[in-house]
Amino acid sequence: MPELPEVESIKLQLQKYLVNHVIQDVEICNTKIFQGNPEDVIRAKVISVRRFAKVLSIDLSNGNSVLIHVKLTGQLIYRGPNLKKVPEMSKKVTGGIPGPHTHVIFKLDRNGFLYYNDVRRFGWIKVIKTAEVETSGFVGKLGPEPFGKLTLDYFQSILSKTKRAIKVVLMDQTKFGGVGNIYANDALWLAKIDPKKSANSLSPGEQSKLYKAIHDVLKEGIKYGGASELAFVTPDGREGNYQDHTLAYAKEGTLCPRCKKAKFTKYFLSGRGTYVCPACQR
Ligand SMILES: [Zn+2]
Repeated sequence: MPELPEVESIKLQLQKYLVNHVIQDVEICNTKIFQGNPEDVIRAKVISVRRFAKVLSIDLSNGNSVLIHVKLTGQLIYRGPNLKKVPEMSKKVTGGIPGPHTHVIFKLDRNGFLYYNDVRRFGWIKVIKTAEVETSGFVGKLGPEPFGKLTLDYFQSILSKTKRAIKVVLMDQTKFGGVGNIYANDALWLAKIDPKKSANSLSPGEQSKLYKAIHDVLKEGIKYGGASELAFVTPDGREGNYQDHTLAYAKEGTLCPRCKKAKFTKYFLSGRGTYVCPACQR
């Protein structure tokens, strides 16, 4: 599922492409995905695009916002005047735009379009009041996030309160927002910590190393425009490249480049693929 760097990459492009466009109409092909009254967005101008962990908020001039969670396979693709040169579309945009997997189309002024495609259809789009975005059901439950309100003190206090495996805690969105499986694996390798270790057994030194490692891997993820697993593409229709730069994620069977003593192994922890160097992650 797209994590902080992927959704940040979507946000950065949407800011560039959508701000100042007026939504002229919304075509809804799937009423399960679009929740709310389309009238609440029509004739409104996009004034900003924000991200809360893995959720996007497109804020409009009329006091409403469009919240979007792309979940596993949702894609937001922009076509219109703010895209100077239309890049070749990734093959991950199954069926094209508009196509059989296009569920919502925002028709913008100046012949612009924002398409929402979603093969698995787990994603959602909700129209709510901008004033309620930060306290709304989903966003209100999110823990503080890296590059945001997540301080080292808070990070340490959360870890010291739970015996759960450190990797599982990192991915718990109610504790910390934005970190998912790819970046949790890489941050734990970078900090040389065994993903199975109880969160409250980390030493203060390990806690701060991990805190820094999380920020480092997320920064790399953003730099490479996210990781294109499953269906992730940015609004220009292209893929990210972080999948070619992961540290531990999906490296099973390859030699650990740091200690050169062992090969990465893979096992499942709480149902998620976990990649670890048995020699240097303790
Ligand atoms: Zn190693």
